[in-house]
Amino acid sequence: MRPINEIVIHCTATPAGREVSVAEIDAWHKARGWSGIGYHRVIYLDGSRMAGRPIERIGAHVKGHNTGTIGVVYVGGMNREFTAAADTRTPAQKDALLAEIIDLRDRLNIEKISGHHDYDAGKACPSFDARPEYAHLFPAMDATASVEDDILRRGDHGPAVAAWVDDLARYRKKIGHKWPIQPTDAFDHTVELVTIWFQQLRGIVDDGVVGPQTRDEMDRALKGMPPFQALAA
Ligand SMILES: [Zn+2]
Repeated sequence: MRPINEIVIHCTATPAGREVSVAEIDAWHKARGWSGIGYHRVIYLDGSRMAGRPIERIGAHVKGHNTGTIGVVYVGGMNREFTAAADTRTPAQKDALLAEIIDLRDRLNIEKISGHHDYDAGKACPSFDARPEYAHLFPAMDATASVEDDILRRGDHGPAVAAWVDDLARYRKKIGHKWPIQPTDAFDHTVELVTIWFQQLRGIVDDGVVGPQTRDEMDRALKGMPPFQALAA
């Protein structure tokens, strides 16, 4: 299991009263080039608590903090006119969200909770302030550090880059690619291009940046597994 210590709350940013299904979110996120739904749990308008991406898999819901978090989304977050962010949680959703948070906390020893906008001030998501609302459930929250995603990109140097280049080389060898990649500890233009090649081959976001999704996909690739899909077919 990955090192989860935090819940991050989201909204679907859809108008009050409009239901949104897990399958619909999955389709939106696939359209962004992701491996399907980026959230782990989804709270419907009637309070139904639905499964998204399996909890043991790294999510895609908060930039820089996916490694150690679980993404929980409630359906809504915009007013009926779709003109402004609004806390549209129905009473059933508020109850379900609270129950979900407590269940996850107890099952996984989670010590911290945040709203998406706590990590991205430019976003209104989840359209309410999650930390003060749920802080009483997480007494150790202020003393708990968030897990930062490990990210490598062009310009980086060192043993982590060398290990990534070694993975790329092993994968190329494994699939019989005829051009080897030379060992290096410098993330240069060539390493970036080969990273993009790998990302395109595996059908993930091809930004040339090595974050948790790309690493996870490399683990699968080296084991001979197909590209990850968030929802089982
Ligand atoms: Zn969000």
